[in-house]
Amino acid sequence: MARTHLFKNASVLAGPELKYVRDADIAVSNDTFEYVGPAGVYHGRNPRRDAGDVDADAAPATHDCTGLLVIPGLVNCHTHIGDSVGKDARLEGTVDEKIHPVFGLKSRILSETPPDVLVDFMANSCASMVRGGTTTFVDFREGGVGGVALLRRALSRVPIRCVIMGRTNHYSGEDDIRRNAPLSASGEGELGDVVRSCDGLGVSGANENSDAVLGRYSKCGTLRAIHASETEESVSRSGQMTGVSETVRALGLRPHFLVHMTHASKKDLEAVAGSPDVRGIVVCPRANATLAEGMPDIAYLRSLSNRRLALGTDNVMVNTPDMFREMDYTWKAAMGMGRAQVDPVEILRMATVNAGMILGRKIGQVAPGMLADCVFLDKHAIDLEPVHNPHAAVVHRASASSIRAVMIGGRMVHGSLD
Ligand SMILES: [Zn+2]
Repeated sequence: MARTHLFKNASVLAGPELKYVRDADIAVSNDTFEYVGPAGVYHGRNPRRDAGDVDADAAPATHDCTGLLVIPGLVNCHTHIGDSVGKDARLEGTVDEKIHPVFGLKSRILSETPPDVLVDFMANSCASMVRGGTTTFVDFREGGVGGVALLRRALSRVPIRCVIMGRTNHYSGEDDIRRNAPLSASGEGELGDVVRSCDGLGVSGANENSDAVLGRYSKCGTLRAIHASETEESVSRSGQMTGVSETVRALGLRPHFLVHMTHASKKDLEAVAGSPDVRGIVVCPRANATLAEGMPDIAYLRSLSNRRLALGTDNVMVNTPDMFREMDYTWKAAMGMGRAQVDPVEILRMATVNAGMILGRKIGQVAPGMLADCVFLDKHAIDLEPVHNPHAAVVHRASASSIRAVMIGGRMVHGSLD
């Protein structure tokens, strides 16, 4: 975007509190929000012209946003889109039989499918996310640097932000974990390349890595995350193998965030609170439910954890990468399980503001200085109108069909305002 664009007369969920501003203007300069606030205040300051750029356009391009509700681009904090080719390939059986990183059906499907086909279906999932208002997703990519290369091919076809969390192909067996074997020579050889080719390390879990390996990974100066306490089985396996809780072992990675924590105990959450690197917990309620492995209790996690919560949709094999559906389900499940009111603004924050903070990126908020990622929803869409509570409307009524346009980094990537 070569010039400043001014989006006038919009309603917006602004800033870190997602405060509803009914009549707002939004100025975008290059890839960043420059002004978000009451209508009629911003009068087309042009920083490029101010800086002496004589080629800069004098006046901002204006777009009338009457009737639109602007929300931050949704952030899907946990996906594995690599298995997009395996949709519902197996519904019966245990979690491990389906998606175990080494022994599950998923890994067999991935190894038996031609790479070009994997890339095609990954690109489809990216396109689906953009159409559904997701502007950033955090993909936990298996398969070392080769796996990352496939994901990058898919990303080259679809304009969406991706935080790539890669991993080595190292696997610690039960014996390795018991005797605390170090990272294999091949894993050590891969590690540098994986870190360089990705935005972070996304480790499968403490049950597939010895303490020594987790400790080795913890020294990588990159974003670090790990699956923890996803199933009752994984929790009890850690106890049997090591006498230590799975979550406590996972903290050996010094992760910036943990994924799932569906079966985390009070003690686990206390350990998380004492771990200074941890910024937050990413829960995946629909994926957990689909796998019949219980549900993360949002009210419980919020009451016991002093860390931020965010949302992910997990494996495409078992769940759709649709953040509207994830928010809807999460809100209702939280109230159903807790028999308590949960403010929808908290759920929307999990899908936007909290995610940006956990990732340490300038995303997840419509606010000056943030990357201009947002979704323009039609307030008059048949499922939304009349909008009495904008946060509730977004969380449990909006869908891809309510979207007029999606902007990423100041560029319209889906739909149009004209
Ligand atoms: Zn996962």
